[in-house]
Amino acid sequence: MAKIYCIANQKGGVGKTTTAVNLAAALSQLSFNVLLVDLDPQGNATTGSGLEKNNLVQSVYEVLLDRADIKKVITHSTSGYDILGSNRKLAAAEEELLSAARKELRLKTKLDEVSGQYDVIIIDCPPTLSILTINAFCAADGLIIPMTCEYYSLEGVSDLLLSIRAVREQVNSGLVITGLLRVKFDPRITLQREVSEQLSGYFGSSVFSSVIPTNVRLAEAPSYGLSGIQYDPSSRGAVSYKTFAEELVKKDKLKKLLKNRKREG
Ligand code: ATP
Ligand code: MG
Repeated sequence: MAKIYCIANQKGGVGKTTTAVNLAAALSQLSFNVLLVDLDPQGNATTGSGLEKNNLVQSVYEVLLDRADIKKVITHSTSGYDILGSNRKLAAAEEELLSAARKELRLKTKLDEVSGQYDVIIIDCPPTLSILTINAFCAADGLIIPMTCEYYSLEGVSDLLLSIRAVREQVNSGLVITGLLRVKFDPRITLQREVSEQLSGYFGSSVFSSVIPTNVRLAEAPSYGLSGIQYDPSSRGAVSYKTFAEELVKKDKLKKLLKNRKREG
């Protein structure tokens, strides 16, 4: 069974998609079989993985609403991992799901069908605490929270932690906070250094040691349909995501997933 991570923060533009895409690419390079699930109607992870989101015949939307077989909708990306794509149709799913039975467990049920084929599944969440994000929380084992080191980010994380507590109590007691990842970091900015220190002081070992710097190559990569890691492997952004992936592999002992696969295969 795959280890499932969701990348979430209800704050917009904090690097969720950049983290999801580059973590998927970095883990693929480390020989993990990875599936990236785009759970955002904006479809940024889909575009960033080299798919034309508006030309998708079927997407995560049809899968969630039982209108397509997940195995047939998943495709291979240009950056080494598989992708379950999304586009703006998914926005309609939010309303349609609200009246569905077991509405918060839809994604989990679907991922159970393919989990055996992957080592790691990464879910890129939209910038809301909507039913889509709740589906991701219910399906996941671990939550990775990318955050920028600004004052409002701290407030946002408190709201997020409250939602996680509710999810744990009501539907997924197994969900853990894998860690907070500082992204778009610029150590020359005093406030960023201060917020970064406050975060480490408050959340301790829940903050990943790896830090993702502001790096324009990471921002350029999606327009080529590539992860930053494929687009410019030696850029500071790519190197920092590779270091982060290695930290995660160690922290969550993911190498044993590879060993299990070899044993079973
Ligand atoms: P949304 O909430 O809209 O889904 P998001 O949290 O997924 O946004 P991204 O789309 O990953 O955030 O990033 C927002 C913008 O910042 C994008 O233009 C992206 O290319 C850019 N960006 C992300 N990380 C970095 C970085 N480390 N350095 C420079 N630019 C970055
Ligand atoms: Mg995004």
